[in-house]
Amino acid sequence: MARTVLVTGGNRGIGKAIALAFAAQGDKVAVTHRGTGAPEGVLGVKCDITDSDSVDAAFTQVEQELGPVEVLVANAGITADTLLLRMSEEQFTSVVDTNLAGAFRVAKRASKTMLRARWGRMIFISSVVGLTGNPGQVNYAASKAGLVGVARSITRELGTRNITANVVAPGYITTDMTENLPEDLKKKYVESIPAGRFGAVDDIAAAVTFLASDHAGYISGAVIPVDGGLGMGH
Ligand code: NDP
Repeated sequence: MARTVLVTGGNRGIGKAIALAFAAQGDKVAVTHRGTGAPEGVLGVKCDITDSDSVDAAFTQVEQELGPVEVLVANAGITADTLLLRMSEEQFTSVVDTNLAGAFRVAKRASKTMLRARWGRMIFISSVVGLTGNPGQVNYAASKAGLVGVARSITRELGTRNITANVVAPGYITTDMTENLPEDLKKKYVESIPAGRFGAVDDIAAAVTFLASDHAGYISGAVIPVDGGLGMGH
């Protein structure tokens, strides 16, 4: 059955792969972007997830053009890495505001129509470092760990309405976010991954489309690692 899917930050990287995977299986797919436009074949809606009015407008546009959002993938995220002692309050709050509060804003808006439909799937893109921690990422790890609490609370609140909320925790995946890491750091990361390599964006898309499928209707509040063994299941 074709579903209406919204992927935040689906204009590039992991979000784009997720959006294209849903489109390939015949779903009606929208992505948020901040001015770049959308990949071919999916609807692009302009949205800054740090602004709830912008989130509301984006959902309204999707509703008008594709119907109410049935599958929400909260993927948009940023990093602002530096060691704790040097981290400014702004570096901390901006990352938490985008990655954690941004996911809250879109989940809240999506829940409105999912409750009415008595069906919904929410998938939050976290990170292996949300559960293992990482030097230089106090802000990012806090935001990504927070998503687990968000998904599990939604599971408890909305579980009886056929709404599931799950977390996918990627390890190191080749995208713009990891492409810019220093070569020596990349080498060190690869050595620590049991699979011996970075993952691909399609590895994440496969887990996300599974969680949105009818096969996964009884999975909720789960954290699914897609990390080549790095987090050892957390
Ligand atoms: P990218 O940096 O390639 O893309 C980030 C996306 O988030 C872009 O689409 C960007 O939009 C969007 N975005 C950022 N801030 C906002 C905002 N305020 N409002 C709306 N959209 C915003 O990241 P990846 O594809 O690598 O990562 C996607 C997700 O996966 C992130 O949440 C990331 O933390 C997580 N992740 C990634 C890993 C990796 O190894 N790559 C590992 C673990 C987790 P724009 O194009 O406008 O900037």
